[in-house]
Amino acid sequence: MKIGIFSLSCCEGCSVQFLNLEEKILDLLKHFGIENFRLAKEYNEMPVDIAFVEGTPTNREEILKLLKIRKDCNVLVALGTCAVTGGVSAMVNTMSKKEAMEVYGGFPPEMPVDPKPLDYYVDVDYHLYGCPFSKEELMELITSIILGKKYKDKEYSVCVECSLRENNCLLDQGYLCLGPITRGGCKALCPSNGKPCLGCRGPYEDANIKGHIKVLQDIGFSKEEIIEALSLFSYEKLKEVIGWLKEE
Ligand code: SF4
Ligand code: SF4
Ligand code: SF4
Repeated sequence: MKIGIFSLSCCEGCSVQFLNLEEKILDLLKHFGIENFRLAKEYNEMPVDIAFVEGTPTNREEILKLLKIRKDCNVLVALGTCAVTGGVSAMVNTMSKKEAMEVYGGFPPEMPVDPKPLDYYVDVDYHLYGCPFSKEELMELITSIILGKKYKDKEYSVCVECSLRENNCLLDQGYLCLGPITRGGCKALCPSNGKPCLGCRGPYEDANIKGHIKVLQDIGFSKEEIIEALSLFSYEKLKEVIGWLKEE
């Protein structure tokens, strides 16, 4: 099978995460040929069986590039938060046109398209969450594809993994932690290292977002602090609830 790793606008940290697979890349190469990977190869080819796409389109050329990748692959994987939720690039969408005019004299010229998740433009077969994505989840996904099994997203919160590790809850200690509404799968990386969850994996489907906002307000966080936290990685996914909170 042939795979390709493609970049749209982003920090390319997810491509680097692929390189960080180190010896696991050798296992991968037993099953796959890496046909297209700008960071690692001089000559790149299409089509591929599986396309991993990081980043989000921020201009017309990148939208066309994404549409072409979709046409030339069988399976498309949104790789990392930028691709899955629009990520940090989508924070530009938190500005009104008026604010953008004041700051940039218009929307930033290199960003004429409002950053959106990949599935706004094309069908996405799988999502690998996180900033950067989890190497373990990538290997789980690839193993599922090789075995012809269905790969399932984690439908529970970071809190579940945090509790399993018997961490002292940072929310109870007054930190603004987004673990209760954020999709698990990172093994509660940040709280396990004494830092609150910033929500880099985005909200999971049944997350009680309004309920968590109420908890944060009861602790004493201001509307602005909560909006800033929710906007960091998931503005595009949470803009309705952010709009509701603004109006409240
Ligand atoms: S998800 Fe994070 S690490 Fe990956 S490309 Fe986006 S900003 Fe970089
Ligand atoms: S520290 Fe955060 S992630 Fe861990 S249990 Fe508390 S709220 Fe959940
Ligand atoms: S704890 Fe939260 S911010 Fe940290 S890696 Fe996991 S989802 Fe991302």
